[in-house]
Amino acid sequence: MKVLVPVKRVIDYNVKARVKPDGSGVDLANVKMSMNPFGEIAVEEAVRLKEKGVVNEIVVVSIGPSQAQETIRTALAMGADRGILIQTEETVEPLSVAKLLKAVVNEENPEIAILGKQAIDDDANQTGQMLAALLDWPQGTFASKLDIADGKAEVMREVDGGLQTISVELPAVITTDLRLNEPRYASLPNIMKAKRKPIDIKTPDDYGVSLDVRLEQTNVAEPPKREAGIIVESVAELVEKLKNQAGVI
Ligand code: AMP
Repeated sequence: MKVLVPVKRVIDYNVKARVKPDGSGVDLANVKMSMNPFGEIAVEEAVRLKEKGVVNEIVVVSIGPSQAQETIRTALAMGADRGILIQTEETVEPLSVAKLLKAVVNEENPEIAILGKQAIDDDANQTGQMLAALLDWPQGTFASKLDIADGKAEVMREVDGGLQTISVELPAVITTDLRLNEPRYASLPNIMKAKRKPIDIKTPDDYGVSLDVRLEQTNVAEPPKREAGIIVESVAELVEKLKNQAGVI
């Protein structure tokens, strides 16, 4: 069984994002970039499925600038077998990503595509769902547990207020939630080995997909600064402040 794992290169989750002075976006100059954390979880899950003998090939795909090759190499060092970089310097919206991934699926014929539930840069949470719709495949989103057997995937999903378990026929799209697993760190020997694994470099044109832009980002702003709290002397004072100052009761 082959699995496709799309991974996005995003601003590192430890970096405090700075908004550009003109409010046109987040300043990415000289900022550390890494694999989207939900993508790491997707790669880890694919590697675990390979270790269990359920999967025999893991193909990683990233759409982005040439530096996204580093992101693919990280996935190869974690245990993926080969990579595809669809290289572009343009902004690629979730619908265009989904169309490109559909074209890759048609070429590669994987039985499962494991995506992150969202990319932590734009927090779109759209690509997996759009890919499933374009392919007419079932989807198991926000997975916190995944079992594959008898041509089916059993997915425990994190939903509002609890967990839901569904069974979907393969081929299917799965998107990963935080609790699915804890991604491994690549060992030095595996990082060295990953240098010899193949990465195909393609362009969106190779797949006949145009990157039409449909969304306009009109403004990006920092969240308001949190004001210092106060310590009250008594419950009565707390109730008085909640009533008369905060106006919440
Ligand atoms: P999003 O819908 O943008 O929040 O992204 C959800 C998931 O789609 C990510 O975790 C990735 O698995 C995949 N994805 C989104 N953008 C890209 C990209 N440029 N390259 C590869 N995978 C992507």
